[in-house]
Amino acid sequence: MSTWHDYVQRNGKVPEWPYPVNYGKVNEVVSDVLVIGGGVAGLQAAINAARMGVKVAVLERGHAKRSGSGGAGVDHWHGAVTNPCSKVTPEMYTNACYDSMQGWTGGHVRYIITKEGWDTLLECEQMGIQIRDIKDEFKGADFRDEETKLMFAYDYANKHIIRVWGYNIKPKLYEEAKRLGINIVNRTMPTSLLTVGGKQGKRVVGATAVNTRTGEFYIFKTKAIVIATGGAGRLTFFAPEITASSSMSDMNSAGVGQALGWNAGAEFVNMEMSGPNRLSGFGYAPYSMGGAHNTYHGTPIVDADGKEVPWMDPFGRELKTVEDRFLPQPGHDFILGEGIGIGPYLQQFRGNDLTRDLVERIRKGEFKLPLYADLSRLSESERRVIFGMMVANEGKTRIAIYDTMTKAGFDPDKDLFQAPVMPAEGYSHSNFWGAGINAPANLRGLGGGGFLTDWDLRTRLEGLYVGAGSTIYGGGCHGESHTTGRYAGKHAAEYAARAPEPVADKNQIEKEKEAAYSATHQSKEGNGWKEINAAIARIMRDYCGRHKNDLTLNLGLRLLNELKTTELASAYASNPHELGRLLECNALISVGELVIKASLERKASNSILDFHRLDYPAMDPPEWNKLLPIRQENDKVKVRDLPLDFHLKTPYAASYEENYKKHGGK
Ligand SMILES: Cc1cc2nc3c(=O)[nH]c(=O)nc-3n(C[C@H](O)[C@H](O)[C@H](O)COP(=O)(O)OP(=O)(O)OC[C@H]3O[C@@H](n4cnc5c(N)ncnc54)[C@H](O)[C@@H]3O)c2cc1C
Repeated sequence: MSTWHDYVQRNGKVPEWPYPVNYGKVNEVVSDVLVIGGGVAGLQAAINAARMGVKVAVLERGHAKRSGSGGAGVDHWHGAVTNPCSKVTPEMYTNACYDSMQGWTGGHVRYIITKEGWDTLLECEQMGIQIRDIKDEFKGADFRDEETKLMFAYDYANKHIIRVWGYNIKPKLYEEAKRLGINIVNRTMPTSLLTVGGKQGKRVVGATAVNTRTGEFYIFKTKAIVIATGGAGRLTFFAPEITASSSMSDMNSAGVGQALGWNAGAEFVNMEMSGPNRLSGFGYAPYSMGGAHNTYHGTPIVDADGKEVPWMDPFGRELKTVEDRFLPQPGHDFILGEGIGIGPYLQQFRGNDLTRDLVERIRKGEFKLPLYADLSRLSESERRVIFGMMVANEGKTRIAIYDTMTKAGFDPDKDLFQAPVMPAEGYSHSNFWGAGINAPANLRGLGGGGFLTDWDLRTRLEGLYVGAGSTIYGGGCHGESHTTGRYAGKHAAEYAARAPEPVADKNQIEKEKEAAYSATHQSKEGNGWKEINAAIARIMRDYCGRHKNDLTLNLGLRLLNELKTTELASAYASNPHELGRLLECNALISVGELVIKASLERKASNSILDFHRLDYPAMDPPEWNKLLPIRQENDKVKVRDLPLDFHLKTPYAASYEENYKKHGGK
């Protein structure tokens, strides 16, 4: 095998750019539905649109076979509440999410997820993803249903979160998309949505883009678009050398879909919401250190002397047995599960966890560091399902963690798995590998805000739909992203089937084309994309961090604008890859402006949004208990008021079920 070092030693220099570069060469792609972002949500949107008989194209920044946060796998699927074993109904689940968030999440999106999550998973099974214990490896285990062979996580009584063998979920979706003849244009960076007359707020009719290998220009002409580009992790934090290995974000999470929508006139809500960026990349590779959270839920944690840390229910009672960790306790309605885009939990839905006073007890010397995960204290089936089935299927863990540790001789039957050694506060959350203590205190990430959509998952713009996790207001995690993508794809196809032919505006295309290549003819003295991205993240952290006021926010806006018109305008791209990354910086600045402008509009502090205005310190004043949808019209900001439960108010019906049925549901 030849390595990078071999290459450089043999040739004495770094390789030439390996692709022919044709800046300015125009390619046209015509479809009925264009999906931007080929992650799990995007491929589901594409597959489901294609199944309805329309012509589909996917515009993907990476390679759709493995791209996205869900590209490396998944081990548990949330929201499949209509599975035959579940004791939770869509209404129960939706209300649990909505009430836990005190209304600050999209109830209609949650309901769609729960109505169709199980059907979506069954379709994944048809594509070749294992969702049942077909080899009877876990026969008789507490978490397995003997009849269906389904296996559950977190709540073994209510059975709504399903353990899946998802290491190959993305390649299987990709195969299905190819089988259906979907045109997937990989390694391509979108720069704009084309709208009728090139005007903000009008029907979308296409997109422009640049290929990041050849530099060629793409014009996508289409009747409907689904945006599914994931989150915007690089907005507040950027250090590419470490994000790749240890962050939960995808390197392509630059908020480009949000920027495209914002610049085209779509509406957004809750973009002012943010939270501590625990899983930032300053911690450890995902799931690589002992802990008791998520995939490792239920794992016994012991101290250096072998003394076990107690588990408690959310009501403060110590759990007597290991089995209890996976069961609802008196006072629980059901356990909702973690990682679904919910911040606070009402007690009756919160999971069992390590004792909440662990930090104090470590400080007092009651537990001696280091701590360890002791999987040997679990029953054989629990041990094998965690370090085996789940770690081998979870995102980013099959090779990096499971294979590496197993090959190095780690044996969960007898070996302890060390937790990171940290200041005591690091143990305040049972996810030790992602402990917030390892990230600078000013590091925050967006959380929960996104495109505002209706019951079709359509935005304010005719023809523009959104699927996905972090892109949409009310989105969740892996299974939820598949489900909203699938739903948005169907509705986009339905619209496309009756929509008039798209007519793109020539001036808009020409303007976009010129702007797209600006960085290729700047002076080589110009900054590179990494410096610009780091500067954007710094501005956002400093001026739109946890504590802000009118002045800091306006200074942030000014600095973003200065950066755009000076350093970014004169930045240089020496190849199409760098050009793509610089175009992302443009998008990051647009999202940054959106976030700051949304923050300026909320003149009150809000506990659920973790939003702290120093100039409006009163927390949660009732008159601000409303959404503030924000958009651009003729490049001017427009804001309106919207009740939190808008999805059950006129023009919609008063019940979830009625709305769902009216919008094509069964
Ligand atoms: C390590 C890890 C483990 C996880 N484990 C679980 C789990 O067990 N259960 C669970 O429920 N969730 C889990 N998640 C979360 C889950 O993977 C995400 O919620 C889900 O992948 C979101 O799906 P998405 O399609 O919205 O976004 P993504 O999967 O991130 O896909 C976004 C897609 O858009 C593309 N894209 C980005 N920018 C552009 C652009 N400018 N132009 C075109 N395309 C673009 C990306 O390349 C990517 O293909 C995990 C995440 C990680 C990182």
